Amino acid sequence: MSTTDTTQEIQTVERTHVVVLGAGYAGAMAANRLRRNPAVDVTVVNPQPFFVQRIRLHQFIARTGEPQAAFGDLLGDGIDVVVDTAVRIDARARRVHLASGKHVDYDYLIYAIGSRHHLPDIPGAADHALSASDWAAAQHLRERIDALDAGAPVVVVGGGLTGIELAGELAGRGFAVTLAGGGAVAPSVGERGRRATIRQLGRLGVDVLDNARVIAVETSRVILETEGREQYLPSAATVFATGFQAPELAADSGLTTDGIGRLQTDESLTSVDDDRILGAGDAVAVQGITLRMSCQAAQPLGAQAAEAVLARIAGDRPIPVDQAFVAQCTSIGRHAATLQFTRRDDSPARAVVTGRLAALAKEAVCRGTVWNIRREAAHPGAFSWLRGREVTAEREPVLQ
Ligand SMILES: Cc1cc2nc3c(=O)[nH]c(=O)nc-3n(C[C@H](O)[C@H](O)[C@H](O)COP(=O)(O)OP(=O)(O)OC[C@H]3O[C@@H](n4cnc5c(N)ncnc54)[C@H](O)[C@@H]3O)c2cc1C
Repeated sequence: MSTTDTTQEIQTVERTHVVVLGAGYAGAMAANRLRRNPAVDVTVVNPQPFFVQRIRLHQFIARTGEPQAAFGDLLGDGIDVVVDTAVRIDARARRVHLASGKHVDYDYLIYAIGSRHHLPDIPGAADHALSASDWAAAQHLRERIDALDAGAPVVVVGGGLTGIELAGELAGRGFAVTLAGGGAVAPSVGERGRRATIRQLGRLGVDVLDNARVIAVETSRVILETEGREQYLPSAATVFATGFQAPELAADSGLTTDGIGRLQTDESLTSVDDDRILGAGDAVAVQGITLRMSCQAAQPLGAQAAEAVLARIAGDRPIPVDQAFVAQCTSIGRHAATLQFTRRDDSPARAVVTGRLAALAKEAVCRGTVWNIRREAAHPGAFSWLRGREVTAEREPVLQ
């Protein structure tokens, strides 16, 4: 007679704690995707107790749209949200210090704190320039705009996509808007798209000054230089949309950053200083690849940062970033837009759609970005993105 030993082996699963800094397009996507591994505990640190759709901030300022979305079904079950601001990363101790004085420890960290406005060194800009680039700046700008008289002159400095969207939205609300390009307006779209953008801005009454360079900002006027001549423009509110830069957190924490403060990572989104720190979205510079700061790039980056962490936990090598651009879609007020299709490296292709159809496409894009995050919360791993040839350093000057 034989007996069988039925002693059951009790297995303990080792848990891994991943902290995600920033719950924007990249951070929220990353946090949700990490839930593919049930042995991962996820904590998100974010200053606001809700998701901010940054791509609607110009609407928030003009009171034509709402950027806040409750975290409710945007972040998957079990994700811990800490409403606070990271003020220092202690990489050696694997600890993040928070503005409240508390701290949070991690096994892996995903750095996804986005970007804010980049102010050029122009006399008076630091004192008088307003911005639409992040939640705090947008709230301040909205207060200023609300206090203006109907039809007051507003100058938007910067002819990139954000400046165009803001100028169109404010003109739609009845202000006398001048868009001072600083160089050509809409330089990243093709010539057809550029002409259509200027035409649509004109229909809303925006005075587009191509190639006018702002040389000083004062309390109630802006000084421009056009072909060597100075010009004075009255301005009740001067808004700078002159590009983005990353917050100082990475640099202040002793991590390697690029010239505009982005965490420097290798091709797998891993910090070049520490393989327990990964990054995604506007806040990172990926070695060998140039990606336009955009929610279009941020969401795939968030998903790939999560995949890289999951690979490291599993003892695998994370794979290099692989993603491509599809289009640049710029709203011009509530009823027009320019939809410029692009090649995978974000350079303009031939196809351009304008007018109401493009405006509908832009609204679909805005809703789609939130839908992507919500779907990833419900089904971790569901989000997919266009892959293809990486965006190379050749496009660097245009993208910057
Ligand atoms: C008016 C406007 C219109 C735009 N339109 C478009 C568009 O049409 N298409 C497009 O692709 N892009 C657009 N962009 C750019 C786009 O919004 C950004 O590129 C995108 O939001 C980047 O995503 P992210 O997740 O990296 O950062 P964010 O979306 O900025 O998220 C970062 C998060 O981190 C939080 N955070 C910041 N500091 C800390 C800290 N120290 N600790 C913890 N959390 C922190 C922030 O509060 C925020 O919640 C627009 C931008 C603006 C301002």
